[in-house]
Amino acid sequence: MKHKLVIANWKMNGDFSSNFSLLKSIVAFADKPQNTQIAVCPPFVYLSQVYDLLESSPIALGAQNVGFAEKGAYTGETSASMLQEFACQYVLVGHSERRTLFKESDEHIAEKIKLAVAHNQTPVLCIGETLEERASNETQTVILSQIKTIIDKVGSEVFKSVVIAYEPIWAIGTGQTATAEQAQQIHALIRAYLRSLEPILFDEMTILYGGSVNENNADELFAQNDIDGFLVGGASLKAASFEKICFAG
Ligand code: 13P
Repeated sequence: MKHKLVIANWKMNGDFSSNFSLLKSIVAFADKPQNTQIAVCPPFVYLSQVYDLLESSPIALGAQNVGFAEKGAYTGETSASMLQEFACQYVLVGHSERRTLFKESDEHIAEKIKLAVAHNQTPVLCIGETLEERASNETQTVILSQIKTIIDKVGSEVFKSVVIAYEPIWAIGTGQTATAEQAQQIHALIRAYLRSLEPILFDEMTILYGGSVNENNADELFAQNDIDGFLVGGASLKAASFEKICFAG
């Protein structure tokens, strides 16, 4: 049975009371799905609450972002060392919402990855094409160049600690999931590309799929050879849906 990683990206959702009930449900089933690591990425202000509620559960804590500098005059930012104090194991970087809405650059993404790895966190590098890029047959070029750009900036030794999340932008929050075949095709492409670059270092890299994953499509997606798990937005806010996704396969 292949190992599975399922990460909940709550985005800018939640409050004390809904976080409490959602986590209560997730904690109740979290030790049951076999070979599955579950992680939850709440908004920063709730890290402390979620940290307390996850204590002694097998669920990992993650952050939705991290600052690109170690410390200092960066109003509004949160550093990798601060996340380390909350035992954050995963950090999302390069999410398309951050690239588009917050103009996050490849330089910043690379710095975030380096800092996360230096503080024992696994960066989850999000990549994906727009609908226009897919329509004009540019998907492969876009995806591989997003990966190559970051490898060139952080180096292979750091990059080997990264988890990749393929999130086609047209599938995020739209209800329009990539078909299992479409997703598998890109995951296989990514894996073959990584192996061609560094056969030993990159052989076992985890590649997640994200974009309208739900309780109805998770089984078929996870059945694909090169899909190692999911980065889940909307469906991770509903305990019953998230549970089925965690049990997929
Ligand atoms: P949805 O699952 O809501 O489409 O969001 C996907 C996503 O962006 C996860 O990071």
